[in-house]
Amino acid sequence: MELSDEIRNKYQPVIGLEIHAQMLTNTKAYSNDKNEYGSPPNTNVSPITLGHPGTLPKMNSKTIDFAIKMGLACDCDISPEQHFARKNYFYPDLPKGYQITQDTTPICTGGKIVIKDDEGNDKSIALTRIHMEEDAGKSIHDIDPFNTLIDLNRAGVPLIEIVSEPEIRSSQEAYNYVTEVRKLVRYLEICDGNMEEGSLRCDANISVMLKGAKKFGVRVEVKNMNSIRNVQRAIEYEINRHIVAIENGEELYQETRNFDALKGTTTAMRSKEAANDYRFFPEPDLQPIKITTEKVQKLKAEMPPLPGALYSKYTNQLGLSSYDAQLLTDQKDIALYFESIIEFTKNYKGAANWLMGDVKSYLNSNAISIKDFPVSAERIAGLINLIDSGAVSHNLASQKIFPELLKGNDSAEEIAKKNDWLQNNNADEIKDIVLTVFKENPEEFERFKNGEKKLMGFLMGKVMQKSKGKADPKSASKMINDLI
Ligand code: ADP
Ligand code: MG
Repeated sequence: MELSDEIRNKYQPVIGLEIHAQMLTNTKAYSNDKNEYGSPPNTNVSPITLGHPGTLPKMNSKTIDFAIKMGLACDCDISPEQHFARKNYFYPDLPKGYQITQDTTPICTGGKIVIKDDEGNDKSIALTRIHMEEDAGKSIHDIDPFNTLIDLNRAGVPLIEIVSEPEIRSSQEAYNYVTEVRKLVRYLEICDGNMEEGSLRCDANISVMLKGAKKFGVRVEVKNMNSIRNVQRAIEYEINRHIVAIENGEELYQETRNFDALKGTTTAMRSKEAANDYRFFPEPDLQPIKITTEKVQKLKAEMPPLPGALYSKYTNQLGLSSYDAQLLTDQKDIALYFESIIEFTKNYKGAANWLMGDVKSYLNSNAISIKDFPVSAERIAGLINLIDSGAVSHNLASQKIFPELLKGNDSAEEIAKKNDWLQNNNADEIKDIVLTVFKENPEEFERFKNGEKKLMGFLMGKVMQKSKGKADPKSASKMINDLI
């Protein structure tokens, strides 16, 4: 199935993604059952979750708040009035026989997610909608060799589904899009974004058409990718498969396919003709939701800074590179720590370097998050300012002061003073040292004077040694040059 670039380049892939995100609420969408991953099977299951006769669902208002926050983060319109619908189908892990979802009145419409395209430029992917619904239970096929086991803890867990327009044009763009969605839900703290545990799931719709064509090709929907990388692999595989089929004059069918991560291939699950007719009808047991402008304003005020806005601030206002800005905004806690450092120093590049360098490697080697980092942002800024003032070298700061910062509560300056590490900028003292070094190394001194510039290193080494590392290297090298 290897395709030549020439053939591949004739075609334009078209991709639309549907992402389900489990909401980090304490309880389920329509009941007080705990919403907890990893509880013993079938322990968070009340008659409401099971949809027993006479039980009534009650909307969890936290889910609404979370969905609105996601909508605001994506510039969506928030619908002032919404209705719930029943989506009916039979499946063993769906005890009620229907899911409560939003059909014709999703909570958010329009909006966009900004990603990088394959050239690294900003590209807006329009959203169709974001709606609220509930998860189904889980069928477990790999514990009992003869039976399928059912765990209903997940049944009724609140979800939002984020549906994109078919505006994604490559598997890399799809990768960037899912990464961006995951970053957003994590910044908003509405979903843990863990694809391995299934709290974030992505279905990919893929078709190809000849470049310049007006009409999209036949699409397939691929499910069961448990990492962002696998979303990309599944899409690549499908693009390839579609092009080969079209080139061979074969017909493609609209169908749902399953991704096999081990083989890196997809297989047919069901065709569109065999698809369920869900017989949507209005959910009779839940009131319509009304959302006031005041409520939206209140939630807006609670929003954390978002990665896109921070990225623009870092590249446009602070003059950081796109690479630095990307690294800093990848994780909210790191970005917030950076925000705190720069309250105390104007050396933004220095702050970025320290955070992504010494601090990050300390976190990595101790396997802790920045939340557990023992040094306050103010003390890190103090260290940066101490270097910038010329009082200590970067090396000494990194090798001697930083480890001391980790141990106690002293400021960088206090540590340097106590240990007598402050650099010597006293011109007279440095002059004395340089002259002594010349006297003690007459041969090297002569050769250096006669133009052998590489001996600078040797002489500097001697000066630093004599000053016990405290001579300011800049003043010392200037002094050497001045005195020959
Ligand atoms: P369904 O409910 O059957 O999944 P939707 O109309 O909700 O259908 O579309 C689902 C997703 O499919 C959307 O993300 C949309 O962008 C995408 N999509 C629609 N047509 C195409 C196409 N021809 N190629 C790729 N993706 C498509
Ligand atoms: Mg679909």
